[in-house]
Amino acid sequence: MSPTEAIASVPTGLFIGGSWRDAARTMPVENPATGEVLTEVADASPDEAMAALDAAADAQAEWARTPARARSEILYRAFDLLHAEVDRLALIMTLEMGKPLAESKGEIAYAAEFFRWFAEEAVRLNGGHMPAPAGGARFLISKQPVGPCVLITPWNFPMAMGTRKIGPAIAAGCTSVIKPAAQTPLSTLALAEILHRAGLPGGVVNVVTTSQADEAMSPLILDERSRKLSFTGSTGVGKHLLELAAKTVMRTSMELGGNAPLIVFDDADMDAAVAGAMAAKLRNIGQACTAANRIFVQSSVAEEFTRRLTEEMAARRMGPGTEEGVTIGPLIDDRAVEKVTSLVREAADGGAKVLLGGVPEISGTGHFFPATVLTDVPDDAEIAHAEIFGPVAAVSTFETEEEAITRANDTPYGLVSYVFTESLRRGLRVCDALEAGMVGLNQGVVSNPAAPFGGVKESGLGREGGLTGIDEFVETKYIGIAD
Ligand code: NAD
Repeated sequence: MSPTEAIASVPTGLFIGGSWRDAARTMPVENPATGEVLTEVADASPDEAMAALDAAADAQAEWARTPARARSEILYRAFDLLHAEVDRLALIMTLEMGKPLAESKGEIAYAAEFFRWFAEEAVRLNGGHMPAPAGGARFLISKQPVGPCVLITPWNFPMAMGTRKIGPAIAAGCTSVIKPAAQTPLSTLALAEILHRAGLPGGVVNVVTTSQADEAMSPLILDERSRKLSFTGSTGVGKHLLELAAKTVMRTSMELGGNAPLIVFDDADMDAAVAGAMAAKLRNIGQACTAANRIFVQSSVAEEFTRRLTEEMAARRMGPGTEEGVTIGPLIDDRAVEKVTSLVREAADGGAKVLLGGVPEISGTGHFFPATVLTDVPDDAEIAHAEIFGPVAAVSTFETEEEAITRANDTPYGLVSYVFTESLRRGLRVCDALEAGMVGLNQGVVSNPAAPFGGVKESGLGREGGLTGIDEFVETKYIGIAD
């Protein structure tokens, strides 16, 4: 399928109540590798967005009554369709977001897995039963769908961040309105069309694309019919949305920013440490909340680690994600290139050494920044505190385990950390001490639909995926029955 055919296959309206409708205005979707406009999609006004919540609220009661097995089977069918159409969907994702095609295919497989996982979970939702401790009554405890949900997703994983929320919402019996990022609406629109074909009844999932995130979505969040907000994005926006959610004491899940430390001890398996650092650094061109933002290496192995990491980074090929052999695509936009450039420059001015890369490469109108390695990065450099969101490895050295833990925890974020050591005792001790919701011990990727994904501190609230992921979308009710 050609890029033009792939883009033309995506509906571009608002998906409301099971059908597509145009909005009064449209907005462009750009290819970050070229700056070209791929297509125009609906740009919802606040009223048009509210129609999506109306549809979700109307569909809620019947969807909650739909048997779990029926909900589960829709998710299984959508899982199959995602796999059957992976080539088309990956091309759409690469065109709108920039990541290399192989990574887009990997994301679709990962995204689909949330549907399979929650298809399995839908039929296992259960409650409990117990006698009142003092006698005279018994308790019947059940799980009920929380109600219509507002789901907001970022641009960096345009499909998986959607299925990670839609999957458990469908499984739990919740209806929803999902708003993808304005930069990458096409993957979510394609997903809605697939869910429709998989047999999802109208109104269960509704899609709002808009360039006016605040104006269009605030009324939905403040509306008493919405009972749950699940947000993935930056900590700043997350804090603002928490304030809005407080107005109606709405349930929230917040998957926010990260500043992951990656610690390499002197007894690490160097092959595993370099491979893990490459995965944690370059996955998604460094534009991941899980990206290794600060790399701490014990000084006795720092020279070897840095040399090998630099060799690996230098071997990566940068270019449009649709090109064979490219492993570093463009950043999402010009602003991202400017931010990464300024972080690197400020670190270098503060004493960091630039071993590789460091300056943006102008390639037509695409937004490219090359693989970059910095060493001797001072702890007070901005790059050690802000999310880099680019292919820049910021390395510094440490002497003792205690020092590594203290510096790793010296951040308001707490999403993920990575530790490389061959000592199980030390590894577990350090994992316990790290303030993070997730730790990769001798591995550079932690994301897995079967594992609870989420952070502590300012990285968020709640967990997505895993055995507890569906709990975010249900309320516990107990009925006290007199004996
Ligand atoms: P962002 O916070 O700018 O936007 C995220 C989403 O929120 C987008 O859909 C955006 O349109 C919407 N939004 C922005 N302001 C809004 C408002 N006032 N009201 C309603 N919606 C609003 O983040 P981004 O740049 O799209 O994504 C990158 C960020 O996401 C990074 O901080 C990254 O760490 C984080 N992220 C976190 C996870 C995680 O699971 N913890 C996963 C991926 C990305």
